[in-house]
Amino acid sequence: MTAEDLAILSPEALPLAARAGHLVGSVIDSSTSLLASMKHDIVRFAMGSPADEAVPIAELREIAGAVLRHGSMTYGATEGEPELLESLVGYLSGTADPTAADRVTITAGGMQGLDLACKIFIDPGDLVIVESPTYTNGSATALSYGAQLLEAPLDENGLVVEALPELVAATGRTPKAIYTIPNFQNPSGATLSLQRRKLLLELAHRWNAVIIDDDPYGLLRFEGTDIPSFQALSPGDPLVFSVRTFSKILAPGLRVGWVDTDPSLRQLVINAKQAMDTCTNVPAQHLVAEFIRRGRLDSHLAGLRTQYRDRKQAMQASIRRHLGDLVTTTDPEGGFFLWLTLRGEAAQISTRRLFETGLAEGVAFIPGPALSAEGRFDDALRLCFATSTPERTDEGIRRLRRAIDVELGS
Ligand code: PMP
Repeated sequence: MTAEDLAILSPEALPLAARAGHLVGSVIDSSTSLLASMKHDIVRFAMGSPADEAVPIAELREIAGAVLRHGSMTYGATEGEPELLESLVGYLSGTADPTAADRVTITAGGMQGLDLACKIFIDPGDLVIVESPTYTNGSATALSYGAQLLEAPLDENGLVVEALPELVAATGRTPKAIYTIPNFQNPSGATLSLQRRKLLLELAHRWNAVIIDDDPYGLLRFEGTDIPSFQALSPGDPLVFSVRTFSKILAPGLRVGWVDTDPSLRQLVINAKQAMDTCTNVPAQHLVAEFIRRGRLDSHLAGLRTQYRDRKQAMQASIRRHLGDLVTTTDPEGGFFLWLTLRGEAAQISTRRLFETGLAEGVAFIPGPALSAEGRFDDALRLCFATSTPERTDEGIRRLRRAIDVELGS
């Protein structure tokens, strides 16, 4: 944006809403545009995109032929197409995150679910607890409603819930919401333990704060055993607002997701969604519904889990090979991401600068500060292991090593 553009956007020049000043944008999404404009060969570890070859395109094309007909291109019900609601609820009944027809509203991806949660619960000035690091598109949604964010630490068992009472007490306020990504957290890969889930539910009730439970990766567990969702641990709890999406388990371009709330909240969710977009993309919903109805989601997910487990292990092996003791790495049991922390002589490198050097060397990642509301973690970075083949990943990690060497001047 040029200085001239900014001048046009100043409140003196235009009658902007106060909230326009809170629309901070997304470094993660901007990296997609930046990379799309770059002509040289870049290994892409930046976006949390499923592997392109993992999208069952031939089958979706065939299903599209069957579902595109008169009647499927008109407005649909705001809560979602009945075929999708039915097949989705049926599918989820066999998982660690079961639901019921009167709880689900179909959304335009997980982002709209987060927007609905914030629209319903957050007033300007409200305190919202977020993980540190976190998926900053989610925290930016809370900011867009005027929230004040309180960053809380994470460890290998997820959000350090035991630390919250003291952190909150220091603010002298009561939080209105806790934004958590309980499974294979974006970006750390950590999973919230059962004990901490229970404690978080207790705290949410003590504070009368909503848990915004953002879980796009829960169905992508490739190691270990499932931990019950908040909703499964606290059935009928209106303080649990769950946000889900098909973006990681089928295809992000479809923009189909869902929210799972207590039935008492559902009409409010529907009203809020009506004020946004009336209904979610109808043909996309029919595509997903038919894919599930044919019984394909289970086998598709089984294939993804094997592929992503192999890709995680391949990336870890490449990291050991090329980066040796210059980094420490997390070891997630599912999802898409490894979180690397620079150490030894590399600890002095700024990953914001390394990002630029990495692009010049032909590798893209998300620098740590882009994943913290306060810009922390300049010694860390996020890598997506899901998108690239093991061979391509090895090349990307080799390029990352070259970028680190350039920064170290060696
Ligand atoms: N939450 C988290 C934690 C995510 O990682 C993502 C996608 N990167 C989303 C929400 C957004 O999902 P969608 O693309 O379906 O809007």
